[in-house]
Amino acid sequence: MKRPKIVVLGAGYGGLMTVTRLQKQLSSNEADIVLVNKNDYHYETTWLHEASAGTLHHDKVRYDVSSVIDSGKVQFVQATALKVDHNAKKVILEDGELDYDYLVVALGAAPETFGIQGLDKYAFSIVNVDAARQIREHIEYQFATYKVEEDKKPERLTIVVGGAGFTGIEFLGELGNRIPELCKEYDIDQELVRVICVEAAPSALPGFDPELVKYAMAHLEKKGVEFMIGTAIKEATPEGIKVAKGEDEIEEIKAATVVWAAGVRGNPIIEASEFENMRGRVKVDANLRAPGLSDVFIIGDCSLVINEEINRPYPPTAQIAMQQGELVAKNIANLVKGNTHLETFVFDNKGTVCSLGHDDAIGVVFGKKVTGTTASFMKKMVDNRALLMVGGVGLTLKKGKFKFF
Ligand code: FAD
Ligand code: NAD
Repeated sequence: MKRPKIVVLGAGYGGLMTVTRLQKQLSSNEADIVLVNKNDYHYETTWLHEASAGTLHHDKVRYDVSSVIDSGKVQFVQATALKVDHNAKKVILEDGELDYDYLVVALGAAPETFGIQGLDKYAFSIVNVDAARQIREHIEYQFATYKVEEDKKPERLTIVVGGAGFTGIEFLGELGNRIPELCKEYDIDQELVRVICVEAAPSALPGFDPELVKYAMAHLEKKGVEFMIGTAIKEATPEGIKVAKGEDEIEEIKAATVVWAAGVRGNPIIEASEFENMRGRVKVDANLRAPGLSDVFIIGDCSLVINEEINRPYPPTAQIAMQQGELVAKNIANLVKGNTHLETFVFDNKGTVCSLGHDDAIGVVFGKKVTGTTASFMKKMVDNRALLMVGGVGLTLKKGKFKFF
């Protein structure tokens, strides 16, 4: 009998969790497992703000996919997926196609620009290793150029961060530590540097614990961050950004670096493949399958799971993506073995920790508020846990964060 073919798209948190669990649960006689990823490496998306600010080298946030998969059981295909043809049960790649019996889509997120003019051209987004490296180098180039140019442009030393969600705040935390280093490196007076965070909502980290938000803002302000709260970015231009000021007034802020961290949507493949979706995310069923498609599982940032307690979607996180990967692997292994009983997905929310640089953080863990070095220690433990779950002790020792204070 032909072995069923399981294709997993994406070697991020969800995809690698699925594959590393599948390779434990199935023998090579039971199924063919194929993992497709754009790069031959996995990157820790949750560490990209550090590589973007330059507080962690980009090689530290990635590792080879081959180091965690069992090549006797899993075929790795380095390719860019373009589309899923679910009628023909095929994945269209940039260079060829793959058929499947079971498909897991775990392709992560893309920046949500809400159609705001100029963002795609003039703003950076913290989306992958290449983008992180470019942001770091761009900022350094601005500092170096400011130093040598005769007609000095102060905007070279202005960095705007759009959005004070978790990504924006974590990036600001890293900048808080990196800017003094850069000023020293390029002999620039730190007073000349401006880091401005523009947030449309009436508060930073909307919806998060107000006491912790206050703590985070005070910490970042102490490091020189200026907050413009309740202010929406309306346009990005070659000179900087335009923000809404009052009802119909627009203010221009000149900045050579604009980093858009104001939200995400699902991977564009979801829309290209004509899955029913909301902003690129598919509202999956209780077993994490696309509506009406018993052989297509969608996890991570491409999926949408409703938190029934508040009737709103869970925010897309690595935490949920990994739990989804574990469940999908279990269910697909069961199906392959002829057991049609599928387990339903229940998110086990262990909490949220948001770093404020390598030495401080805020969080709510198992319902308890944490700040300072305790929270920072926990954040590193969370980062290490992801490595441990996918690649075991060896990977954790090689790539983990063990410098705590
Ligand atoms: P990802 O882990 O992003 O992986 C997607 C994979 O698909 C990548 O390997 C990518 O290369 C590949 N891919 C994409 N397109 C294609 C294609 N067309 N063809 C082939 N391969 C492709 N969440 C937390 O829980 N805790 C945190 O502390 C946290 N911190 C964050 C910090 C930052 C700076 C950011 C940006 C996000 C953070 N998040 C955090 C959110 C978290 O990173 C995402 O929710 C998580 O990465 C989603 O996992 P995923 O498997 O869906 O996608
Ligand atoms: P987000 O959607 O959580 O936050 C985006 C912020 O941008 C919001 O505060 C929003 O009000 C603001 N915004 C939107 N439009 C704007 C505009 N025009 N001008 C100014 N501000 C605007 O997005 P994110 O921070 O990128 O996070 C994405 C996902 O990743 C979330 O689910 C988040 O929980 C997760 N994440 C988690 C962590 C962590 O757990 N430590 C860290 C980073 C990201």
